[in-house]
Amino acid sequence: MHEVKTPKKPLIFYYCVALLLLALFNFLAMPWLAQRQIREVDYGTFMSMTENKEIGLVEVQEQSNQIIFTDKDGATVYKTGMMPDPDLTERLHASGAKFSGETIEQTSPLLSALLSWVLPIAIFIGIGQLISRQMTKNMGGPNAMMFGMGKSNAKVYVQSSDGIKFSDVAGEDEAKENLTEIVTYLHDPSKYREIGASMPKGVLLVGPPGTGKTMLAKAVAGEAGVPFFSMSGSEFVEMFVGMGASKVRDLFKQAKEKAPCIVFIDEIDAIGKKRDGQVGGNDEREQTLNQLLTEMDGFEGNTGVIILAATNRPESLDPALTRPGRFDRRVPVELPDLKGREAILKVHARKIKVAEDVDYTQIARMASGASGAELANIVNEAALRAVRDGRKLVTQGDLEESIEVVIAGYQKKNAILTDQEKWTVAYHEIGHALVAARQTHSAPVQKITIIPRTSGALGYTMQVDTGNHYLMTKEEIEAKIATLTGGRAAEEVRFGTISTGASNDIEQATKLARAMITRYGMSEDFDMVALETVNNQYLGGDASMACSAETQAEIDRKVVELVKASHRKALDILEKDRAKLDELAKYLYGKETITGEEFMDILDA
Ligand code: ADP
Repeated sequence: MHEVKTPKKPLIFYYCVALLLLALFNFLAMPWLAQRQIREVDYGTFMSMTENKEIGLVEVQEQSNQIIFTDKDGATVYKTGMMPDPDLTERLHASGAKFSGETIEQTSPLLSALLSWVLPIAIFIGIGQLISRQMTKNMGGPNAMMFGMGKSNAKVYVQSSDGIKFSDVAGEDEAKENLTEIVTYLHDPSKYREIGASMPKGVLLVGPPGTGKTMLAKAVAGEAGVPFFSMSGSEFVEMFVGMGASKVRDLFKQAKEKAPCIVFIDEIDAIGKKRDGQVGGNDEREQTLNQLLTEMDGFEGNTGVIILAATNRPESLDPALTRPGRFDRRVPVELPDLKGREAILKVHARKIKVAEDVDYTQIARMASGASGAELANIVNEAALRAVRDGRKLVTQGDLEESIEVVIAGYQKKNAILTDQEKWTVAYHEIGHALVAARQTHSAPVQKITIIPRTSGALGYTMQVDTGNHYLMTKEEIEAKIATLTGGRAAEEVRFGTISTGASNDIEQATKLARAMITRYGMSEDFDMVALETVNNQYLGGDASMACSAETQAEIDRKVVELVKASHRKALDILEKDRAKLDELAKYLYGKETITGEEFMDILDA
């Protein structure tokens, strides 16, 4: 798709042109025009005109040595040089000429008024017209605002041969199915009109960042072959109240002209947040939202304008925006599952040269939890790595390494760990892996490494999920917490002391333990009572407490108990398996990176 933009000249450009024209006119044209009106004659002509009584006004300019005079009806102005002529005054008087008390107008009064007043005004009016026409064109209407502030700036993508299609969006089958109906409608709205069905005016795409919401919207336009207007929610909000509303009006006006078409508003939460009615609320944002609501109500269901909007904070949207008749259809665009990840990897691998033996399923497994955007990034990183190593094809190794780059950053080649630190990291990582492997519910290990990364991780254990998990049992969560505490437990078992290396584990373990009690109803005391509400489901899942201070204190105690119990369990496992712990840590220390298979071989030996 390609973008069509109107070239714009800044306003200052027109002002400069106006000033330049005026200056040129005053300095060059005016004197020239004025000069042209005076006819220079010789003294003889002047004398004979005096004799024939043909002179109207006369003025003797002694300073410049010249005589200016007009004919009887004052239509032409003449000029001649002065001669010693003592009787001149009398002869002139006798001829009936009038002696001028003031300077003779060298041009006719009409012409002079024309030149000094009418022409400059005309120039200004002309330039004003030019500017206003330009502004009207940019803003799409004579009621447009000053200085281009009220225009919508929507990027218009028109259909072209390289437009994005549904086949470019891998996975997300449910979302695609949902949107296919809209494509069918845009192809032939009459079919729907005949039966009296109306399409939803607005479709809300919700999901975490990077899952392909923008892509899906573009794909709908690409499949339907209609124009695609795209604008981000934050672009509507301006410094002055009312500007955003004007932009909304303009956008819809343009869209209606181009119907059938798709209007896509990205990050709609920027304008669609709940109006809370607080004193000092954001007037501009609320006005913009009101305008959007009005516009959506304003057009008929079957005009062929479909509004798609994307957000990753659906819970913060104003209920008026999501009511039937506005954004009444919600299409979830979730993080891809195993199959989805594999498909996305394959779609992006089409753009690069890949070795034939690459196992996409394996890569998809390793990249569990990655979004579409991250997977696209992984494939690109792999290609960059292949180029860096001077290879022509991307290999399995490249893809695996790039997953780690995307997850944990680049390898820190010159980070020098002391021997003791390296041993500590080796035990820590083997601790995680061993506790995970010994608990039946934990996923097996894929890879363990103790090469420091730029993200700050000194080493990590990559766990592999074997299939799709939509539910987790209480035991599985407990096992996960135990695995997280396994690193610290291994340090204690081996060295009898503890280090700072477990901070991230501690954070995650605590989060999980808290969620078990406050959100999943997994503690006996509180049963199925919601003690927390999640605010941002798709953005890290921040939660806010919904209970009394005493209950909070009780929750804190329970969390500590739970984590302590899991820690104890991890310590037990490792103490029982001390020999394997030492053997594996030594192996990892020597090799720095080991695979899940090597790990399991030693464990089962
Ligand atoms: P969002 O709008 O959800 O934040 P985008 O649609 O902008 O995400 O996606 C960002 C990039 O991620 C896309 O340009 C594309 O390369 C990649 N991507 C995301 N999801 C998919 C998918 N399902 N299939 C193929 N590529 C995807």
